[in-house]
Amino acid sequence: MPLTLSEFNAVVEDLWPTGSAEGWDAPGMLSGAGDDPVRRVLLAVDAVAATVDEAVAADADVLLVHHPLLLRGVTSVAESGYKGRLLAGLIRARCALIAAHTNADIVEEGTSAVIAARLGLQDARPIEPGDRDGTGIGRVGRLPEPIALGRLALALGELLPATAGGIRVSGDYDQPISTVALCGGAGDSLLSSPAVRGADVYITSDLRHHPASESREQSLAGGGPALIDVSHWASEWLWLDIAARQLAERLPGVEFVVSELRTDPWDFVITQ
Ligand SMILES: [Zn+2]
Repeated sequence: MPLTLSEFNAVVEDLWPTGSAEGWDAPGMLSGAGDDPVRRVLLAVDAVAATVDEAVAADADVLLVHHPLLLRGVTSVAESGYKGRLLAGLIRARCALIAAHTNADIVEEGTSAVIAARLGLQDARPIEPGDRDGTGIGRVGRLPEPIALGRLALALGELLPATAGGIRVSGDYDQPISTVALCGGAGDSLLSSPAVRGADVYITSDLRHHPASESREQSLAGGGPALIDVSHWASEWLWLDIAARQLAERLPGVEFVVSELRTDPWDFVITQ
């Protein structure tokens, strides 16, 4: 008997309990029939046309994503809208859609912890601790040895999948970095956290003008972190391999495939 979707979702829930997600979030099963079999799962950051097409073409039974497709009030899933079209495509192909979002950010091997581990950060701890030991949002830790800010940005460029926007840095190329704070995805809400202010650099995504400018000015005036802004998609994509490994350990009979498609929304930049 193959695994059922209900059984698969129970493992997902065990790894990333939806009850630990932020109040505004909507992770969990978005579509699917509990009795359907699960033999193959595609993991991706986003449910977009490209990854839905990939899941259907690969005959996947589940598309497991990081970002919930439906986060705000939905009044129509008509196929004139792209979300209705994606859901209808998945349902017709009997491919369920499940999201593990902020509930996957905070766990011990969550999105930020994965980047911290890949950078080799020592004594990494959450920027904002969660309820359980070792859990929480973001990570802060020490590099094995100090490195120039520019070299760290180059190392991130090697670590993360390539995107059109590349990596933006605020600070002096040669300034030494020992303590690194980071948050996968959009992390500007942590800019004023004491752990971030006390770090030599803060790595995150989607930094807008005002939060970035205010942080920079405060750092110039009274000390504080340099900033490294990376692609939101790239920062979370690294987690998929860990998620696939964790699932495969629990479900050896199921095939897990990580999507290599770039779902960062930007296609090119003009450098001046
Ligand atoms: Zn995200």
